[in-house]
Amino acid sequence: MSERVRFAPSPTGYIHVGNVRTALANYLCARKSGGQFILRLDDTDVERSTVEYADGIREDLTWLGLNWDETFAQSERVAEYEKAAEKLKADGRLYACYETPEELDVKRKVQLSRSLPPVYDRAALALTADDVAAFEAEGRTPHWRFKLNPEVVSWNDGIRGDVRVDLASLSDPVLVRADGSLLYTLPSVVDDIDYGITRVFRGEDHVTNTAAQIQVYQALGGDVPAFSHHALLTGAKGEGLSKRLGTLSIRDLRESGLEAMAINSLLARLGTSDPIEPFTELAPLVESFDESKMSRSSAKFDPVELDALNAKVLHHMSFDQVSDRVPAEVDAALWETLGPNLSRLSDLDGWLDVIHGPIQPIVEDSGFLAYAATLLPEGNWDDDTWKAWTGAVKDQTGRKGRDLFMPLRQALTGLDHGPEMKHMLPLIGPERTKARLRGEAA
Ligand code: GLU
Repeated sequence: MSERVRFAPSPTGYIHVGNVRTALANYLCARKSGGQFILRLDDTDVERSTVEYADGIREDLTWLGLNWDETFAQSERVAEYEKAAEKLKADGRLYACYETPEELDVKRKVQLSRSLPPVYDRAALALTADDVAAFEAEGRTPHWRFKLNPEVVSWNDGIRGDVRVDLASLSDPVLVRADGSLLYTLPSVVDDIDYGITRVFRGEDHVTNTAAQIQVYQALGGDVPAFSHHALLTGAKGEGLSKRLGTLSIRDLRESGLEAMAINSLLARLGTSDPIEPFTELAPLVESFDESKMSRSSAKFDPVELDALNAKVLHHMSFDQVSDRVPAEVDAALWETLGPNLSRLSDLDGWLDVIHGPIQPIVEDSGFLAYAATLLPEGNWDDDTWKAWTGAVKDQTGRKGRDLFMPLRQALTGLDHGPEMKHMLPLIGPERTKARLRGEAA
């Protein structure tokens, strides 16, 4: 079935790794089913939503390659939400309440002191016309609550299986605040109905919302979408991530030089029964996406794992996939040589420095290096030169293995690891090679 899904971030901050897991589930589901991925900006909180964050979210999703087919912001649709609120009022499902926050607080405390659940007592339903007139004369304006039917709401969750929530144990949710502003609950349902959303992927922190919202879809006469609530991310040691999410924004990860596909590869597979693998494009993730593979228990996000995966993704990237992001001198052959040694794409600069110099060679046995220098082949150097040279050094000195290769690598590159020396030697060239074998910075 072709699914219409939506990713609905609030532009009150930049998106972070937790959001991207939700975005990916929606995106991959849409692409796998040949359906549509809709980007909805939940900006009804006018105080905290900004244009800068909305732009930032679009930029980050675009960078990740999670392209949407349709987009809109809730602030454009206030008239629709008001119409829906009027219908619910007319049907007696949305009722006016005049309690102040302090009064509600007192009620809750009394309930708790009597070991009762702190559920709203629906006192507002018993108000007479005179009571209402008195409140309004005092200058109070009502907030509006949705009257839940006291029943067990159940659905077959795509990830959690059979879920049942007893709405009799919940307070009637406030849909409209006393200042007339809307909470998230109603606009989201109105949008899902109007945009023909078939499935909602979101975090398990929304499970209770879902139960109440199911009755709102029904009260508005709309189709109830299918729901899939994924478990939340924790830190590497299982700790809650919410406090650290600010530092795990996609923007910051991008600026730290990580690849979009490393982030996608990790977050699409984290907490699923599929292995985490380094993909260089989204297609295989689309292909393997299956919500039934998503675990109900929380998944651990470890930045160290992301770093390691980033290196693997770079190793798998073809020159065409990076050509517009590398220095001009890097061609396909040089990419083949250097790519396997990168943790970040920006590490290329360091290897180009090794090639062009100057670098400080590491010299432990200058006599050996001086002797090896006398055996350097004449003529044009190519990928066979290293073998010919080190073969001659081996024959003349009896050194082999690490004793033979490591001092040469350290002298020529100033490092004890790196790209294959058979490629590096001709790139470094005779002049710098000879100088470095003499221990000179070159
Ligand atoms: N703006 C809501 C959030 O970020 C959207 C939840 C939903 O997908 O319905 O939590």
